Amino acid sequence: MSAVLERIAAVVGAAGLITDEAGMAPYTIDWRKRYAGRPLAVVRPASTREVAGVIRICAETRTAVVPQGGNTGLQGGGITDSSGTQIALCTARMRRVRAIDPINNTITLEAGCVLAQVQRAAEGAGRLFPLSLGAEGSATIGGNLSTNAGGTAVLRYGNTRDLALGMEVVLASGEVWEGLRGLRKDNTGYDLKHLFIGAEGTLGIITAAVMKLYPLPAARLAGIAAVDSPGDAIRLLEIAQRQSGDSLTGFEMFSDFCLALVLKHFPGTSAPFRTCYARSQYVLLEISDSRSEASGRTAIESVLTEGVVAGVVLDAVVAQSLAQVQAMWALRENITEAQAREGQNLKHDVSVPVSCIAEFIAATDAEVRRAYPGVRLVTFGHLGDGNLHYNVAAPQEVAPEAFMREAAGLTRIVHDNVARFNGSISAEHGLGQAKREEIRRYKSALELDLMRKVKAALDPLGIMNPGKVI
Ligand SMILES: Cc1cc2nc3c(=O)[nH]c(=O)nc-3n(C[C@H](O)[C@H](O)[C@H](O)COP(=O)(O)OP(=O)(O)OC[C@H]3O[C@@H](n4cnc5c(N)ncnc54)[C@H](O)[C@@H]3O)c2cc1C
Repeated sequence: MSAVLERIAAVVGAAGLITDEAGMAPYTIDWRKRYAGRPLAVVRPASTREVAGVIRICAETRTAVVPQGGNTGLQGGGITDSSGTQIALCTARMRRVRAIDPINNTITLEAGCVLAQVQRAAEGAGRLFPLSLGAEGSATIGGNLSTNAGGTAVLRYGNTRDLALGMEVVLASGEVWEGLRGLRKDNTGYDLKHLFIGAEGTLGIITAAVMKLYPLPAARLAGIAAVDSPGDAIRLLEIAQRQSGDSLTGFEMFSDFCLALVLKHFPGTSAPFRTCYARSQYVLLEISDSRSEASGRTAIESVLTEGVVAGVVLDAVVAQSLAQVQAMWALRENITEAQAREGQNLKHDVSVPVSCIAEFIAATDAEVRRAYPGVRLVTFGHLGDGNLHYNVAAPQEVAPEAFMREAAGLTRIVHDNVARFNGSISAEHGLGQAKREEIRRYKSALELDLMRKVKAALDPLGIMNPGKVI
């Protein structure tokens, strides 16, 4: 064992260090299997003190550190390079909920807590932790913060940044910044936690956080509407927002092709309607009611009825039980996995102003189809907050691997259109290693320079997740 690893082993003990290839394997490849690394070791500290000890050694020995939470990131941000010199630092042994304060509506937890575990802990205290996403059974709160994850409730509660009140971070020097404040008002200078949110582990290691909680709604009502086009989906959104205001907690859209993929790859799931609405879009909307199920039901039915009367909704169904609500969400949340089972595709996690979505989709679809006839567009996303997963799959008769080699140029079409509509080429997944170069085309030189200066100030030795983001 190298001298560095011997020193690290003395900090984390045998349970906190993996050096054999088989043991390291799960940490060396990303969820999409697009990035494979070869770490020097996988280090699994059990406490903030241990993280700080490890980072101090890394700083002294100039050893690069790649933080990893649940390894569900989609941009290769948590994967080491293949030099065999970087350590992967995994937070999986830091899963303690340190405190819940139902009066202050806050939860204080360690970075390795899995999102679903946080939701359950909040519920146990009669509160809601609203962050929700398809990978919540594995993704960690540290990963959510580091990618500023979005998910399905951004429309009402904001993204992870909006939910964070305080943070504890091990800096690149090994010092611990103790910023675990549970305050909603604190104007005492620069709000440092925001530097680490969305930084994808390039500025420090988040070890704990204070997150906001909300009252548990009395009822969650979900419905699915078939609409003709993205434009009609936006018109339905306007109706839902006008009628329901803050009670509207989810507004997702997915195409008929997305639904077909889920039905194909998840046997046992059923389509929401008996009629086939080919070439249509589906909207999944959720209303959370603070009073009662009956009042929520009246609200969602009223939205859909107005949609039908306005000629915007072709057909609609409202869930009759919590199990049906969950089945509806499964249709939406299983799209990512269904596409993966269908084969690789070109992924674009983009956002544009909600008012531009219909025009963006129409323009981009036409250009992409012209450039590569026969492509199958897997378009879905969090319509209510302007975030689309605009993914492009191979034509039926083309092997996905060949398509991925030939079609990389399509990304330029998609991203240039995003820029034309004043959007972002990474809405919620971050840059990682996947978009590190691409972002240089879309951010100004000044903005990139500011980012480099922040990086140099906080990580002067360049040991924190090098090669990611910038
Ligand atoms: C099926 C599926 C559905 C998804 N749906 C969504 C969605 O709706 N919305 C969304 O936003 N994302 C979604 N994602 C992406 C992913 O789940 C999120 O990016 C999530 O926040 C990553 O958390 P993680 O713990 O897995 O992080 P990892 O993948 O382990 O790491 C992600 C990045 O954060 C860094 N990092 C991790 N922990 C720390 C830490 N403690 N301190 C500093 N840096 C750290 C890593 O170095 C890496 O750069 C989905 C992924 C899958 C597979």
